[in-house]
Amino acid sequence: MEYPSAGPDDGPGTLFGLDALDAAAAPGADRSEHGGRGAGEHGGRAPEHAPDGRAAFRDSPAARRLLPVRTVYAEPSAARSPRGRQILARFPDAELIEVDSHWRIPGLHGNEGNVERWVRVKGETLVLGEKKTLTTRPNGRSADWIAPGTSNGCAMACAYCYVPRRKGYANPITVFTNIDGIIAHLARHIARLGPKREPNQCDASAWVYDIGENGDCSVDALVCDNTADLVRAFGRWPTAKASFATKFVNPDLLALDPRGRTRIRFSLMPTADARLLDVRTSPVGDRIAAAADFLDAGYEVHFNLSPVVLRPGWEDAWTELLQHLDDVLPDRVKRQAAAEVIMLTHNRELHQVNMGWHPRAEEVLWQPALQQGKRSQNGALNVRYTNRVKAEAVGAVRGLVAAHAPWLRIRYAF
Ligand code: SF4
Repeated sequence: MEYPSAGPDDGPGTLFGLDALDAAAAPGADRSEHGGRGAGEHGGRAPEHAPDGRAAFRDSPAARRLLPVRTVYAEPSAARSPRGRQILARFPDAELIEVDSHWRIPGLHGNEGNVERWVRVKGETLVLGEKKTLTTRPNGRSADWIAPGTSNGCAMACAYCYVPRRKGYANPITVFTNIDGIIAHLARHIARLGPKREPNQCDASAWVYDIGENGDCSVDALVCDNTADLVRAFGRWPTAKASFATKFVNPDLLALDPRGRTRIRFSLMPTADARLLDVRTSPVGDRIAAAADFLDAGYEVHFNLSPVVLRPGWEDAWTELLQHLDDVLPDRVKRQAAAEVIMLTHNRELHQVNMGWHPRAEEVLWQPALQQGKRSQNGALNVRYTNRVKAEAVGAVRGLVAAHAPWLRIRYAF
């Protein structure tokens, strides 16, 4: 496919689309009384280039529209760190506000305010912090291990997203600047494990580490080099593999050298569902069209068929998507592809939030007749399809894949 062309979807109406973002970025738009820091305070922003000499996509107008950063909240140590300085130099006009902690910044996190503000916050605000506790957790489904994240929060705004659950839904990207510590932690963990002795559904021979549990690494790469540093690090570790799911096509990642040690999982759903639910993401067609390029650049390319949302006509829509995959993906992509199938989970709090800004999404996400609740440890009511509904739907998806994309191995479905 041609790059750079991947702009975010406009989402459900112009409120969430580029028109609103462009208006926010226009000269004379509301600015903080503190004003910007001005270019030069951190050395200004030097033009960046990919290793192959192409101008970096993250400096393109499309990337700037997704992330027109105007305010950076930063822990002082994070702002002073090399990664923090890199980020501040990328956004020289942004106002810098020092905070004691990247957690629960008053007036930023939480569910107060309307969605117009949230979507602006997601693009116009960054938070810099240091990840204090570095822990790698066992997983066993999508990956063997969940790596300590280098970010949380996201500039996109999918209606079903669980990522903001701890900070509220106005949750912009928090970048953790202690990337060297995170990579050193991973190196020690991988060294302690030694080689993988038994194949499992995560991978036949490598320990798989999910590096993007709480955000989207492709979007994070618009902000700084954390994703690039991780991809390069895993390229040096012969017993391990990084893995992350994404809904954003960032061509800058093509210029890295993953050496087959990073698995990128493009999340897919039928176009009609994505236009309703995947707010600010790359169009599904662009994600599919990028698969071969990422494979050729040295990534392993898998797909997340997720979330599967049950609504009238869902089986026909997934059939169309799978037939499209079969039609357009080259054989070299098909030969190495595998998929995760993940049924929608939801929760009451998110439902109530969404009813305030995107009730059409809730017409398909909130289906009490099909869903059962489960109280989580923090008291939130999570809902998922009832056991019977889910079992039937998983069986149906497996059948559709077998019929229309038989080359697509399903690693797991739940
Ligand atoms: S891309 Fe992923 S992390 Fe970002 S809003 Fe969508 S579901 Fe959440």
